[in-house]
Amino acid sequence: MVEKSYLVQKFARLKFGQFSVLGYSVGGEETVVQVPELNVCFDVGRAPQFALTSDLMLLSHGHMDHIAGLGYYLSQRHFQGMKPGTILLPRHLERPVEALLRAWQEVERQQTPFTLIPMSPGQDYEVRRDFVIRAVATHHGAPSLGYVLMNIREKLRPEYTTLTGEQIAALRKQGVDIQYKLEVPMVAYLGDTSYGEVFDHQDVMSAQVLLCECTFFDPGHRAKAKAGKHLHVEEFVKVLEKSKNENVVVLHVSRRTGIRRSKHLLRKMVSPEIMAKTHFLMDFDDSKDAGDLDNTAEPGLTGA
Ligand SMILES: [Zn+2]
Repeated sequence: MVEKSYLVQKFARLKFGQFSVLGYSVGGEETVVQVPELNVCFDVGRAPQFALTSDLMLLSHGHMDHIAGLGYYLSQRHFQGMKPGTILLPRHLERPVEALLRAWQEVERQQTPFTLIPMSPGQDYEVRRDFVIRAVATHHGAPSLGYVLMNIREKLRPEYTTLTGEQIAALRKQGVDIQYKLEVPMVAYLGDTSYGEVFDHQDVMSAQVLLCECTFFDPGHRAKAKAGKHLHVEEFVKVLEKSKNENVVVLHVSRRTGIRRSKHLLRKMVSPEIMAKTHFLMDFDDSKDAGDLDNTAEPGLTGA
């Protein structure tokens, strides 16, 4: 018998109202998370096929498990006649990433086009009048960024809502500023981060969907979390308790613990309401059986 395939990589797809979240995220191995409806991909991972379709690639930091596939993403898009990818990235990475991509042009003998947009914390990148990407500082050693996808709505100021169309037109003619901008954070992605100020950022904590790492769950892994500047579940619980997000998606769980046991440990620490809005991206396990998860680490690769 021929074994047709093995080691098939499974990608996740979660649906939240108008957005879906597609991706793969395992601590230290690969992280790539796409929101197809907004044409955005957060980190490129090893550039799986689905990631090629996003025109906007938002890079959080320079670790290989988040950016390894960048050259492939750009080259494949060019090869397939798609428009050049636009890469948002932390400002200090602009120079080395440009050097990498130039080196690929020479190696591949293909003038792969790219656009790098260096970003600083607090900076907005306007995609459209009604869609802005806001960079926020995260805490992962070298400058690292998270991104909030903001919906910008022009609203009539409350004092003018009872006026007729004619009256409004007249005010407009006089140059009266009758509108204000309502900013609605839709999706926030934090890449890798330790606990810090980003979890007091209003746009992050009130986004409809928060995509947040929690790498370590075992009590014995506190030191690893600290050393790698990642979240441990004890800090993640504080995040969840402050969160006003409708949904929180857990990314970057270490293989040292695995999804089933991580879920089990989290469930013991938060209310059922919080648990209900918290989803693990890589949760492919339908069984509700928690079994003997208290003392077992899942076998397999170790890492992050
Ligand atoms: Zn990292």
